[in-house]
Amino acid sequence: MSLAECCTICFIKRLLHDIDFGLLTTILSGQPFVIHFASFSPDSSTYFAPELRQRLIQQGKINLESYFYSQDLLKKVKGKEIKETAVSEQEYAVRDQGFKRTMRRIYDHRCALCGIRVKTAEEHTAVVGAHIIPWNINHNDDPRNGLSLCRLCHWTFDEGLMTVNLDYVVRTSPQLNSLGNMAAHLALLNQRNMIRPADSDFLPDPDSLSWHMKKVFRRR
Ligand SMILES: [Zn+2]
Repeated sequence: MSLAECCTICFIKRLLHDIDFGLLTTILSGQPFVIHFASFSPDSSTYFAPELRQRLIQQGKINLESYFYSQDLLKKVKGKEIKETAVSEQEYAVRDQGFKRTMRRIYDHRCALCGIRVKTAEEHTAVVGAHIIPWNINHNDDPRNGLSLCRLCHWTFDEGLMTVNLDYVVRTSPQLNSLGNMAAHLALLNQRNMIRPADSDFLPDPDSLSWHMKKVFRRR
Protein backbone atom coordinates (compact mmCIF):
# COMPACT_ATOMS: atom_id res chain seq x y z
CA MET A 1 0.00 0.00 0.00
CA SER A 2 1.38 3.39 -0.94
CA LEU A 3 1.68 6.24 1.53
CA ALA A 4 -1.03 8.16 -0.33
CA GLU A 5 -3.43 5.20 -0.14
CA CYS A 6 -2.68 4.71 3.54
CA CYS A 7 -3.32 8.38 4.32
CA THR A 8 -6.58 8.28 2.36
CA ILE A 9 -7.82 5.29 4.34
CA CYS A 10 -6.79 6.90 7.62
CA PHE A 11 -8.64 10.05 6.61
CA ILE A 12 -11.80 8.11 5.77
CA LYS A 13 -11.67 6.18 9.03
CA ARG A 14 -11.30 9.38 11.00
CA LEU A 15 -14.06 11.03 9.00
CA LEU A 16 -16.49 8.17 9.58
CA HIS A 17 -15.76 8.22 13.29
CA ASP A 18 -16.21 11.99 13.48
CA ILE A 19 -19.54 11.69 11.71
CA ASP A 20 -20.62 9.01 14.15
CA PHE A 21 -19.64 11.10 17.15
CA GLY A 22 -21.16 14.24 15.70
CA LEU A 23 -24.33 12.38 14.87
CA LEU A 24 -24.70 11.10 18.42
CA THR A 25 -24.15 14.58 19.76
CA THR A 26 -26.84 15.82 17.44
CA ILE A 27 -29.24 13.05 18.41
CA LEU A 28 -28.78 13.89 22.06
CA SER A 29 -29.65 17.49 21.25
CA GLY A 30 -32.99 16.26 19.84
CA GLN A 31 -32.51 17.09 16.14
CA PRO A 32 -31.15 13.91 14.60
CA PHE A 33 -32.62 14.01 11.14
CA VAL A 34 -32.29 17.64 10.18
CA ILE A 35 -28.57 17.89 10.71
CA HIS A 36 -27.90 14.30 9.65
CA PHE A 37 -29.29 14.89 6.21
CA ALA A 38 -27.94 18.41 6.10
CA SER A 39 -24.52 16.78 6.37
CA PHE A 40 -25.22 15.16 3.04
CA SER A 41 -26.94 18.05 1.31
CA PRO A 42 -26.29 18.63 -2.40
CA ASP A 43 -23.36 20.84 -1.43
CA SER A 44 -21.57 17.80 -0.05
CA SER A 45 -21.12 16.52 -3.60
CA THR A 46 -18.70 19.41 -4.02
CA TYR A 47 -16.43 17.95 -1.38
CA PHE A 48 -16.66 14.21 -1.91
CA ALA A 49 -16.19 11.94 -4.89
CA PRO A 50 -19.49 10.16 -5.76
CA GLU A 51 -18.22 6.78 -4.55
CA LEU A 52 -16.98 8.14 -1.23
CA ARG A 53 -20.09 10.26 -0.76
CA GLN A 54 -22.31 7.20 -1.26
CA ARG A 55 -20.26 5.30 1.29
CA LEU A 56 -20.51 8.13 3.78
CA ILE A 57 -24.27 8.31 3.37
CA GLN A 58 -24.59 4.55 3.84
CA GLN A 59 -22.36 4.60 6.93
CA GLY A 60 -24.31 7.54 8.31
CA LYS A 61 -27.55 5.57 7.98
CA ILE A 62 -25.99 2.56 9.71
CA ASN A 63 -24.71 4.78 12.52
CA LEU A 64 -28.11 6.34 13.03
CA GLU A 65 -30.04 3.06 12.96
CA SER A 66 -27.48 1.28 15.18
CA TYR A 67 -27.81 4.07 17.73
CA PHE A 68 -31.56 3.49 17.98
CA TYR A 69 -31.02 -0.28 17.97
CA SER A 70 -28.62 0.10 20.90
CA GLN A 71 -31.16 2.22 22.78
CA ASP A 72 -33.77 -0.44 22.11
CA LEU A 73 -31.57 -3.21 23.53
CA LEU A 74 -31.02 -1.30 26.76
CA LYS A 75 -34.74 -0.71 27.21
CA LYS A 76 -35.84 -4.23 26.38
CA VAL A 77 -33.67 -5.83 29.09
CA LYS A 78 -35.90 -4.14 31.61
CA GLY A 79 -38.96 -5.81 30.13
CA LYS A 80 -38.83 -8.84 27.89
CA GLU A 81 -36.68 -11.43 26.14
CA ILE A 82 -34.85 -10.36 22.99
CA LYS A 83 -34.51 -12.63 19.99
CA GLU A 84 -33.27 -11.03 16.83
CA THR A 85 -33.64 -12.32 13.28
CA ALA A 86 -31.90 -9.70 11.15
CA VAL A 87 -30.91 -11.11 7.80
CA SER A 88 -29.88 -8.51 5.23
CA GLU A 89 -26.37 -7.09 5.01
CA GLN A 90 -27.64 -3.67 6.05
CA GLU A 91 -29.56 -5.09 9.00
CA TYR A 92 -26.54 -7.13 10.02
CA ALA A 93 -24.33 -4.03 10.06
CA VAL A 94 -26.89 -2.09 12.09
CA ARG A 95 -27.40 -4.75 14.74
CA ASP A 96 -23.69 -5.62 14.93
CA GLN A 97 -22.69 -2.01 15.47
CA GLY A 98 -25.63 -1.43 17.82
CA PHE A 99 -24.76 -4.45 19.95
CA LYS A 100 -21.10 -3.45 20.25
CA ARG A 101 -22.06 0.09 21.21
CA THR A 102 -24.44 -1.25 23.86
CA MET A 103 -21.86 -3.50 25.47
CA ARG A 104 -19.19 -0.78 25.58
CA ARG A 105 -21.66 1.53 27.28
CA ILE A 106 -22.84 -1.05 29.84
CA TYR A 107 -19.26 -1.79 30.91
CA ASP A 108 -18.11 1.81 30.56
CA HIS A 109 -15.45 0.80 28.04
CA ARG A 110 -13.74 -1.66 30.40
CA CYS A 111 -12.76 -5.21 29.57
CA ALA A 112 -14.89 -7.49 31.77
CA LEU A 113 -12.05 -10.01 32.09
CA CYS A 114 -8.78 -8.07 32.49
CA GLY A 115 -10.22 -4.66 33.45
CA ILE A 116 -8.29 -2.66 30.85
CA ARG A 117 -9.91 0.66 29.91
CA VAL A 118 -8.21 2.81 27.27
CA LYS A 119 -9.83 5.56 25.22
CA THR A 120 -8.38 8.11 22.85
CA ALA A 121 -9.38 11.75 22.76
CA GLU A 122 -11.60 10.84 19.77
CA GLU A 123 -13.46 8.23 21.88
CA HIS A 124 -11.79 5.27 20.18
CA THR A 125 -11.76 2.45 22.69
CA ALA A 126 -9.78 -0.74 23.30
CA VAL A 127 -12.86 -2.92 23.87
CA VAL A 128 -15.51 -4.47 21.66
CA GLY A 129 -18.87 -6.04 22.39
CA ALA A 130 -18.62 -9.85 22.39
CA HIS A 131 -21.42 -12.42 22.39
CA ILE A 132 -21.13 -15.23 24.95
CA ILE A 133 -23.19 -17.57 22.79
CA PRO A 134 -22.23 -16.48 19.26
CA TRP A 135 -24.92 -14.62 17.38
CA ASN A 136 -24.85 -17.10 14.50
CA ILE A 137 -25.99 -19.84 16.89
CA ASN A 138 -29.01 -18.31 18.58
CA HIS A 139 -29.39 -14.82 17.05
CA ASN A 140 -29.54 -13.34 20.52
CA ASP A 141 -28.42 -9.73 20.97
CA ASP A 142 -29.70 -9.51 24.53
CA PRO A 143 -26.96 -7.59 26.41
CA ARG A 144 -27.02 -10.37 29.03
CA ASN A 145 -25.64 -12.63 26.30
CA GLY A 146 -22.67 -10.30 25.95
CA LEU A 147 -19.49 -8.96 27.49
CA SER A 148 -17.28 -5.97 26.80
CA LEU A 149 -13.84 -7.39 26.03
CA CYS A 150 -10.47 -6.09 24.85
CA ARG A 151 -9.23 -7.64 21.61
CA LEU A 152 -6.92 -10.12 23.33
CA CYS A 153 -9.51 -11.26 25.89
CA HIS A 154 -12.10 -11.52 23.11
CA TRP A 155 -9.89 -13.89 21.14
CA THR A 156 -8.95 -15.83 24.29
CA PHE A 157 -12.61 -16.15 25.33
CA ASP A 158 -13.73 -17.29 21.87
CA GLU A 159 -10.91 -19.86 21.79
CA GLY A 160 -12.05 -21.29 25.13
CA LEU A 161 -8.88 -20.31 26.95
CA MET A 162 -10.88 -18.22 29.45
CA THR A 163 -14.43 -18.32 30.72
CA VAL A 164 -16.58 -16.91 33.54
CA ASN A 165 -18.34 -19.18 36.03
CA LEU A 166 -21.77 -18.69 37.55
CA ASP A 167 -20.27 -16.71 40.46
CA TYR A 168 -18.85 -14.26 37.89
CA VAL A 169 -15.30 -15.45 38.56
CA VAL A 170 -12.78 -15.71 35.70
CA ARG A 171 -11.38 -19.16 34.94
CA THR A 172 -8.36 -19.75 32.74
CA SER A 173 -7.56 -22.93 30.85
CA PRO A 174 -4.41 -24.97 31.72
CA GLN A 175 -3.59 -24.60 28.02
CA LEU A 176 -2.68 -20.96 28.63
CA ASN A 177 0.35 -22.15 30.58
CA SER A 178 1.31 -25.01 28.28
CA LEU A 179 4.83 -25.35 26.91
CA GLY A 180 5.78 -22.56 24.51
CA ASN A 181 3.04 -20.18 25.60
CA MET A 182 3.87 -16.89 27.29
CA ALA A 183 0.43 -15.86 28.50
CA ALA A 184 1.79 -13.17 30.83
CA HIS A 185 -0.97 -11.25 32.62
CA LEU A 186 -3.74 -13.48 31.23
CA ALA A 187 -2.64 -16.38 33.46
CA LEU A 188 -2.95 -14.12 36.51
CA LEU A 189 -6.66 -13.54 35.88
CA ASN A 190 -7.60 -17.04 37.07
CA GLN A 191 -9.99 -16.92 40.06
CA ARG A 192 -10.35 -13.15 39.90
CA ASN A 193 -13.79 -11.58 39.90
CA MET A 194 -14.86 -10.31 36.51
CA ILE A 195 -15.59 -6.60 36.09
CA ARG A 196 -19.33 -6.27 36.62
CA PRO A 197 -21.61 -3.72 34.94
CA ALA A 198 -22.72 -0.86 37.17
CA ASP A 199 -26.34 -1.92 36.61
CA SER A 200 -26.79 -5.51 37.81
CA ASP A 201 -29.73 -5.97 35.42
CA PHE A 202 -27.09 -6.36 32.70
CA LEU A 203 -25.06 -9.12 34.40
CA PRO A 204 -24.36 -12.07 32.07
CA ASP A 205 -27.13 -14.62 31.81
CA PRO A 206 -26.26 -17.85 33.75
CA ASP A 207 -27.56 -19.97 30.85
CA SER A 208 -25.18 -18.26 28.44
CA LEU A 209 -22.25 -18.68 30.84
CA SER A 210 -23.11 -22.36 31.37
CA TRP A 211 -23.20 -22.86 27.61
CA HIS A 212 -19.75 -21.30 27.23
CA MET A 213 -18.27 -23.39 30.06
CA LYS A 214 -19.64 -26.61 28.59
CA LYS A 215 -19.23 -26.02 24.87
CA VAL A 216 -16.21 -23.74 24.48
CA PHE A 217 -14.00 -23.68 27.59
CA ARG A 218 -10.93 -25.93 27.43
CA ARG A 219 -10.75 -27.58 30.85
CA ARG A 220 -7.56 -29.49 30.05
ZN1 LIG B 1 -9.06 -7.84 28.44
